[in-house]
Formats: sequence, structure tokens, C-alpha cells
Amino acid sequence: MSRDDSITRRRFVGSTSGLLLAGALSSGGRAGAAEDELAIRGGPPAVSGGTPSLPVRWGDTEREHLEALLRQNSLFYWRGPQTERLTERFREFCPLKYVHNCSSGTAALHIAVAACGIGLGDEVITSPITDIGTVIGVLYQQAVPVFADLGPHTYNLDVADVERKITPRTKAIIPVHLTGNPCDMAGLKELADRHDLVLIEDCCQAWGAHYHGQPIGTVGHFACFSLQNSKHVTCGDGGMVATNHEDYGPLLQRFGDKGAGRGLREGGGFHAFATNYRMSEPQAAVAAAQLTRLESIAATRAKLGDLLTEKIAPIPGITPHQVEPEDRAVYWFYMFRIDPDAFNYSRADFARALRSEGVAAQAGYIGVPLYGEPVFQNHGFFAGRWPVREFGLTDMDYSQTRCPESEAILQTGIRITIHEAMTEDYILAAARAIEKVARHMAA
Ligand SMILES: *Cc1c(COP(=O)(O)O)cnc(C)c1O
Repeated sequence: MSRDDSITRRRFVGSTSGLLLAGALSSGGRAGAAEDELAIRGGPPAVSGGTPSLPVRWGDTEREHLEALLRQNSLFYWRGPQTERLTERFREFCPLKYVHNCSSGTAALHIAVAACGIGLGDEVITSPITDIGTVIGVLYQQAVPVFADLGPHTYNLDVADVERKITPRTKAIIPVHLTGNPCDMAGLKELADRHDLVLIEDCCQAWGAHYHGQPIGTVGHFACFSLQNSKHVTCGDGGMVATNHEDYGPLLQRFGDKGAGRGLREGGGFHAFATNYRMSEPQAAVAAAQLTRLESIAATRAKLGDLLTEKIAPIPGITPHQVEPEDRAVYWFYMFRIDPDAFNYSRADFARALRSEGVAAQAGYIGVPLYGEPVFQNHGFFAGRWPVREFGLTDMDYSQTRCPESEAILQTGIRITIHEAMTEDYILAAARAIEKVARHMAA
């Protein structure tokens, strides 16, 4: 046994049931079984050469923008040339009238929530499987996040459950296009129109996605994007918020900039209360350069993710990531689900076996739905307390919240990394690895 094998085995024995080692995993006695053996049991990995890594994501365009910046005598965003360039580039793929850059996706969402006047005790329906930044602004405005359940394979809001969660206090819906897979915007817009609700699209994972041929973010009242380092395009940290709405539009800048209405007719003076969510020119310079790369990044990820779906769809016990045929999903990551009854091994074993095959795979995404996090379970948002509940403006009790499908998604999902430096050959090999592991582990 080589040293590598022994390391693999030690790690394996230390962290799992050891069933695989005990030989319970049948190789079926087929001819050529050794070649077909799982890599985790010493067979050859399905992916030769391992997972391609993401190369440095910036280059000449970023450098040119940053050099231009060094000739500026101000790095402040207001009327800054880098900010103006970012706004222009943003509109090329998300053609909305009012566009404001800010410090994060969380900030973009908070600005949207504040600009449409959501406040004390108002309810905002959203997804429990998302970054906590989706609801931070809602809570800071003293409004109440209400979690609706998700489609079992889109991992996006289930329109019927959203409708069940609407009450006279509901003011908005925040659809999260999880992993860059567009939500059912027609269904949500119909609901929003019928109940007079604001639609705030969380596009943080969805740069370059298309809903029914339209750029993501252009169906709802607001589009909110993140430029954080893990997203498709980035300047380290940053965000964009945009709208076509004539009342909300002029307020984006104000709610992102301490309530100061720069350029508004009434001039100075604080007509609104808001925090400082500004982006500065160096971030705008990098973000504007990154947007020149977006179409190629989005198109590559869309093609690779769709290819994976096509190849793994026939595998028994596995359901691929569901994307509507009219949409372009951009796979911030890919996630399929396993049917636990179809396999003799745990999801963790399945993911571990995939990694041995050379596939970048992880069991699950976030550990629990947002409402399961201690800060929600304890309702401890403001110095350990939650004023709206103490004052009787909501009876929300997150310890009673249940979204069964969301919980099942988090327990049975296997996440596959997809990025623009990967090739179709890698995806085909990854699909073979999934088939191989599923076959060996089948119940
Ligand atoms: C990243 C992310 C956010 C928050 O963005 P930040 O820039 O990290 O504040 C919000 N929602 C979703 C779905 C995200 O993925």
C-alpha cells in the first residue's frame, strides 16, 4: 500500500462508518472490476488530472482602469469617472434607469428595502436557503422576514407557498435566484401585482443569468447584486442596486449614502435616516473591468452546468438541478439531490467518494435554513432582543418555522463546483464519476 493510500484510508476510517473498507461495497464481480473500482477503494479516479482550478481573475483591463484612477485627484464615488463607467457597463446587461453602486450585496438589498418604505412590523417573504445578507436589511428596518418553502429541485421560492404566507402585513417578496438559477418570476410578479407587493430580486449569485430571455433583475421592482469575492465578478467587496421605478429610483443614492440627497432637487439636508454604504472609486474601477468579462464567464458556466444535467439525468437515485428551459442559469454552484433510500451509504460518503474520483464536491450548502440559526431561534437581533416582537407588532416565532422541503434540500443536496476555467471534458468525466459512485453505492 502506498503512502497516499494509507493516508486516504486513515482519514476515511477516522471519519466514516468504515463500511466501504469492510468490503461491503460490492464491485459486482464483473470482468474488469478493478478498473471500475471506486477511487476511494484504490481504483483509478474517473477524473484524470483532478479538478481544474480557477486562475487569477483580473488582468489588463483592471490594470488600465486602476492606472487611470491614479491620475484622479479624488477617489470619492459621487460623479467619479470609475463609478460612472461602472454604471454604464452595468446598464449594458441590466438596462435599468436608476443604478447605484454600494459596499456589498447586503447593502444593495438594505437600500432597496429602505427605498420602498418597508418598516415597522412589515412582513417580507423570502427564501430560507440563502446568504444571511438577504434579510439583514429587512431586520434593520424593523421589518419581519417570513420564510416560504422552496421547489424541491429548483431550490427557489415555491409560488404556492409564498401565496400561503401572505398576510395583510406583507409588503414585499425577495426572490433569491439561488446559484444563479432564475426564480419563477411570472408567478411571483402575478402574486405581487395582485397583492400590491414590492418585488426585490436578490441577484447576488445570478450575474449574467436570463429569465425567459430577459436579463436577470428586470422583472421585479429592484435588482440587487453582490461584488463580493466569491461571486461571478468581483472587486473584493461591493454591490449594485437598480430600479426603473420613478419613486424609488432617486432614493437609492440617498439610502446608500447616510441619507444625503446628493444631486436631488431639494439639495442638502437629511430627509432620510440611513447608514454609509458607499463604494469608492478603486472598487468601481475593478468592478467595471470585471463586467467586461461577465458574458464569457456566464456563458461558460451556463453551458457546463446544463451539460452536467444532461449527463446525470438518467442516473437512478439522483435528481439534477432543475432549470426552466427558457432560462439561462449561471451556476454559481451546481447542486443535485440524492434519494437517501436509493443508496446504502450516507450523503457524506457519497461526496467523499466523489472527491476521491477527482470531482470538486461537497455535501450540502449552508448547514441549516436561516430560521434555524441561533440568532433567529433566540430572536436576539438587537442587543439580544427583538423590539418589534416585544412591542407586539409581530408574533413571529422562528422556533416554530418549518420549511420541510428546504430542510430536505439541505440534507440531500450534493454541491458540485462549476467555474469558467473548467472544460466540457472535465464535466463529462465528473458525470462519469457521479454515475460510478451512484452505481457502487446503490441500495
Ligand atoms: C453573497 C450574497 C448576498 C450578500 O452579498 P454580500 O456582498 O456578501 O453582502 C446576499 N444574497 C445572496 C444570495 C448572496 O449569495
